[in-house]
Amino acid sequence: MDRFHFILLGPPGAGKGTQAKLLANQFHLVHLSTGDLLRAEVQAGTQLGKKVQAIMERGELVDDATILAIIEQKLHQYREVPGILYDGFPRTVPQAEGLERLLQTFGEEVTASILLEVPFEELKARILKRATKENRSDDTEETIETRFHEYIDKTSPLISYYSDRNRLFKVSGVGSIEEISSRLSELIKGILA
Ligand code: AMP
Repeated sequence: MDRFHFILLGPPGAGKGTQAKLLANQFHLVHLSTGDLLRAEVQAGTQLGKKVQAIMERGELVDDATILAIIEQKLHQYREVPGILYDGFPRTVPQAEGLERLLQTFGEEVTASILLEVPFEELKARILKRATKENRSDDTEETIETRFHEYIDKTSPLISYYSDRNRLFKVSGVGSIEEISSRLSELIKGILA
């Protein structure tokens, strides 16, 4: 049986992580957050962790080959799951192309890419709030700035990438966690129906 592959797209602070956890639970999908995986490597002090730590602390993107190697390994590890929900991946067009190629080797494809839309003014406030709560070392003023630039330059072209392939869905990321979550689950139910 083919797996479903759902991508959550959106700027830093849009709420991708929170929403991905809720949706993964509800639809029995594996939540695959490249940010969480990289943070675990840094925490454990692995070779990969050492390589990416400074890049992450600056708010820059880790190179595509490193990220795609992680994804390839996970696609093999999660061979038997109903589906995967990608959070924070792909972040660049080459990553999206790499994912497409990897999925082809399994005879699978991206099911849907869902853009969580939040006005820019609201995002910065949200990230700074998260910085106090989660104590993420990349949630400082300067790195937030860098992460926004990385998003605009390298990640936002994915919006047209998936819309050109008729895979793009947009959901408003404004409102309570529950409101946003129910918008997303209605959308996913519709896609799965
Ligand atoms: P996130 O938790 O998704 O905001 O990711 C935190 C940091 O990890 C990012 O600022 C990047 O430095 C790195 N990172 C996570 N996912 C990716 C990715 N798909 N491509 C490149 N860098 C990534």
